[in-house]
Amino acid sequence: MPRVHDIVVIGSGPAGLTAAIYTARANLEPLVIEGEISSTSDQPGGQLMLTTEVENFPGFVNGIMGPELMGAMRAQAARFGAEFLTAKVSKVDFSERPFRFWINDAQEPTLGRAVIVATGALSLMLGLDSERRLLGRGVSTCATCDGFFFGGKPIAVIGGGDSALEEANFLTKFASTVTIVHRRTALRASKIMQDRAMRNPKISFVWESEVLDVLGDEKVRGLELRNVRTGIKSTLDVDGMFVAIGHVPNTDIFAGQLDMDEAGYLITVPESSRTNMEGIFAAGDVQDHTYRQAITAAGSGCMAAIDAERWLESQDDVAADVIPTPSQW
Ligand code: NAP
Repeated sequence: MPRVHDIVVIGSGPAGLTAAIYTARANLEPLVIEGEISSTSDQPGGQLMLTTEVENFPGFVNGIMGPELMGAMRAQAARFGAEFLTAKVSKVDFSERPFRFWINDAQEPTLGRAVIVATGALSLMLGLDSERRLLGRGVSTCATCDGFFFGGKPIAVIGGGDSALEEANFLTKFASTVTIVHRRTALRASKIMQDRAMRNPKISFVWESEVLDVLGDEKVRGLELRNVRTGIKSTLDVDGMFVAIGHVPNTDIFAGQLDMDEAGYLITVPESSRTNMEGIFAAGDVQDHTYRQAITAAGSGCMAAIDAERWLESQDDVAADVIPTPSQW
């Protein structure tokens, strides 16, 4: 008989690892399917593996490097008995219990009584080699996280949606100037965000332009731009580039099984981590397109752990009701 895990956590960012810490401390021996090592980091652990210094995670007076924070969370979960599988879930079947997961190309499924989905969301990137190389060295996807590092410096924000304009407005608290580079002449952002950006004296726009290259060896020192209509190239001198062209939640494998909104984010019951399927819980960016912070992801991982633990207890109560006790034998 294959082992049935009480809890399977899918994902190893702050949400997944916090869920692992809590469920491990509840003696549920969670199995964490943590994802694979990628070309950009030597350990799974989500988006914080791609950042440098994290200064807004409570408890670290002098900040902490993203990978170090994730390494510490992982070690903390392991200390209390979480098991880790460095692999990807390729398929799930939540139609019957125990729930079934296929890892990589394995024939036999892994089984779990309850599941916490914490697969996160990917920030869309432009796809330039220089962008990847300078990520965390002037290239960022999170103004809330990194804006502080750009005090008095000129920066660029790429994109024309609500995120780009919101980030640009926020970044004017720190930067000397913010240049929004957009590939069209019309913004996708809501009118109110457009008005706010247009009125902000620190914000200017470069229209109909794409980024050809991020310039700089150790850190960003400028952008090479091209006007998509005229083909004319130019250089924009900036110390930072914030890419705000959208996010994609990692939910493909749950399609048809878990309820999602039109953008693909999992839908949870308000003030809980419960999905539309009993026994399946969701935490972190995979169900949050509003806050997207390490600390909010960690908080929702804690909620999912508590919800899952209570749900498992309720199932045990149901089982106790139907299994005859020795006195009834
Ligand atoms: P979005 O609305 O999809 O906008 C993405 C922007 O990036 C678009 O302007 C798009 O250009 C541009 N873009 C996409 N791929 C690009 C590429 N490869 N190179 C250059 N530019 C590229 O995404 P979002 O701004 O993240 O917003 C997502 C959702 O969240 C939206 O529904 C938005 O309203 C909502 N949101 C709301 C708020 C708020 O209300 N405060 C804040 C943030 C987000 P094109 O316009 O040419 O396609």
